[in-house]
Amino acid sequence: MRPDLLNPLFQPLTSLPGVGPRTAPKLEKLVGPAGEAARGAVVLDLLFHIPTGLIDRSHEALVESAPEGAIVTLRVHVDRHRPTPPQSRAPYRISVHDESGELTITYFRADKGWLEKLYPLGETVLVSGRVERFNGTLQMSHPDHVVLEAEADKLPRIEPVYPMTEGVGGRLIARLADAALSRLPSLPEWLDEAHRRREGWPTFAEALRHLHKPEEPDTTDQPSPALTRLAYDELLANQLALALVRRQLKGVTSRPRLPTGDIARRLRAALPFHLTASQESAIADAVADLSAPSRMVRLIQGDVGSGKTMVALFAAAAAVEAGGQVAVMAPTELLARQHARSMSGLAEAAGLRLALLTGADKGKGRRETLERIAAGDVDIVVGTHALFQSTVEFSNLTLAVVDEQHRFGVHQRLALSAKGSTTDLLVMTATPIPRTLMLAYFGDMDVSRLTEKPAGRKPIATVTVPQERIGEIVGRIGSAIRLEGAKVYWVCPLVEESESIDLAAAEERYADLRQHFGDDVALVHGRMKAAEKDAAMARFKAGEAHILVATTVIEVGVDVPDATIMVIEHAERFGLAQLHQLRGRVGRGDKSSACVLLYKGPLGETAKARLNVMRDTEDGFRIAEEDLKLRGGGELLGTRQSGMPGFRFVRAEHHGALMETARDDAALLLARDAGLAGPRGEALRLLLYLFGRDEAVRLIRAG
Ligand code: ADP
Ligand code: MG
Repeated sequence: MRPDLLNPLFQPLTSLPGVGPRTAPKLEKLVGPAGEAARGAVVLDLLFHIPTGLIDRSHEALVESAPEGAIVTLRVHVDRHRPTPPQSRAPYRISVHDESGELTITYFRADKGWLEKLYPLGETVLVSGRVERFNGTLQMSHPDHVVLEAEADKLPRIEPVYPMTEGVGGRLIARLADAALSRLPSLPEWLDEAHRRREGWPTFAEALRHLHKPEEPDTTDQPSPALTRLAYDELLANQLALALVRRQLKGVTSRPRLPTGDIARRLRAALPFHLTASQESAIADAVADLSAPSRMVRLIQGDVGSGKTMVALFAAAAAVEAGGQVAVMAPTELLARQHARSMSGLAEAAGLRLALLTGADKGKGRRETLERIAAGDVDIVVGTHALFQSTVEFSNLTLAVVDEQHRFGVHQRLALSAKGSTTDLLVMTATPIPRTLMLAYFGDMDVSRLTEKPAGRKPIATVTVPQERIGEIVGRIGSAIRLEGAKVYWVCPLVEESESIDLAAAEERYADLRQHFGDDVALVHGRMKAAEKDAAMARFKAGEAHILVATTVIEVGVDVPDATIMVIEHAERFGLAQLHQLRGRVGRGDKSSACVLLYKGPLGETAKARLNVMRDTEDGFRIAEEDLKLRGGGELLGTRQSGMPGFRFVRAEHHGALMETARDDAALLLARDAGLAGPRGEALRLLLYLFGRDEAVRLIRAG
């Protein structure tokens, strides 16, 4: 139960003056709920919707010396009104002057009476806005603020700039923020006082006030102490929640599962290759976890093509040897099918019984599969993440493998831990997440890294080519197919955040390439039925179609080892992580591969830098670090927004060091007061609620 103290902050937005049924949905969309909380937007979210910049109006200039194009505040005398003549499209003009010169203030389509009141003839007013020179005269068009000299203090000297949306302007947000600030209860401090003072941080309430009602202009591009304080609060809430979840997950003593090694031996005998040293050590880590009495909570972090699936298979084998069942979960159906396909041969050779279960399986077939799982006649169930939400009954589930999960929040972990109270957990991620971000999203999870690619892999030659030369590329692909039977992925541009438009582009390219290559081209996209997708992929795999046109559905995990050419159209529109993932689809076999990044110029600085990074390196960890520098954390974790998904105030590029401090802080706090029962503990509970980590509160042990 949320402490009553916080209730004023958790009222709906409509409780704020002036927010009616028309504004509320727009405002809600703009300010959104905070953190991982699953609820509608509330007053607190408005407080957390902080300005992204400040306008400094404190500088009073003289008309003649006002820098053109900059925002200034002028103190001027109103000389003359020149209303718009009838039938004219000219603006309403007001002539004003100060000791240095004259200025014309202009308004388009403005009400005469209103302007006459705003600019009384013969009076002195303060106007603030942008000065421009137009036909030789100085002008200010639609000033942002106009006040009588007598009311000069009404002019906001430092004005916050908020992210806005249609129908919700900056002034409305500022007014609402003001109202919301007045509801802020007095809260106990949850940070260590000495730490807070040393850092020069304000209190939580002061921080919010500073940000919404700034009194000083921004002088650096570093985050202010107020923002840093909130970022730290957010990180601390995050780390506390992760630590609580970890304690919950690890704390449950599972029976040690002692693998016999029998199935693993058979697997090894059936393997067409040698495992890499990284794979061996990751498998050893997993087997050691399984044999230990505490629960396994391990992350396998490995670049695309590093061979994570094998690690999963060997971990699964060990779990089965010890008498358990395994669930392998992929984020999409396509991937689930593919995992099942790539594991089934080896699994069969080793005597492992594997079944695929996805949303596409219906009716009798599904019922039978479910019965076999419940009866323990299946060892490994491969499916989508829905496996865990659905009503699948296992006979003895002891290991859950979660593949390709970029974000694995508190919520998902709890869902998992609810399923089988002692289920071991192996998470695999293909994104090479830098250390700082690892901490934010996974906390102190045990990690095994796959740092090398399987032997025999050839480097991928990457070139950047302007879109205009697409004809040339088509020609070269033609000869590569003719001469070497090359298989080509052709990824279509991401036009908008809308799937239907992406789709149109892919379909158009498909039609276009068919004119050249006829039936040798297949198409796969997210809107296709699973069976159609499978059919297209199968044709490509079998070499019946040498070109596979795709939207980004192929981004994660698809495996066709003999595909050697990757063409990415409008590569400048993709983030680094995405490009890296896509490129990783080729270079998986022993043939040399190529990646063609088609771009549409002119390129901005960031786009240029990104494409250069891609050309220069294949090292996923380096690409991830570069990405972090160029874009911040958002892109890296696979979303297109900037900033870090799930975080309001934290910026990966600024707050890396804080994450470590927050992690240590959280660990120390829980070590001292496991039940968060003392006064500081009580305050920390408030923190968890404020940052939407409610679920973690339930994990706090009593006393
Ligand atoms: P990812 O880490 O991207 O999931 P996969 O597990 O899909 O990588 O493996 C990519 C490809 O490499 C697969 O075709 C797999 O069979 C192959 N592979 C895995 N391990 C090795 C190895 N040690 N030597 C050679 N090929 C390997
Ligand atoms: Mg994989």
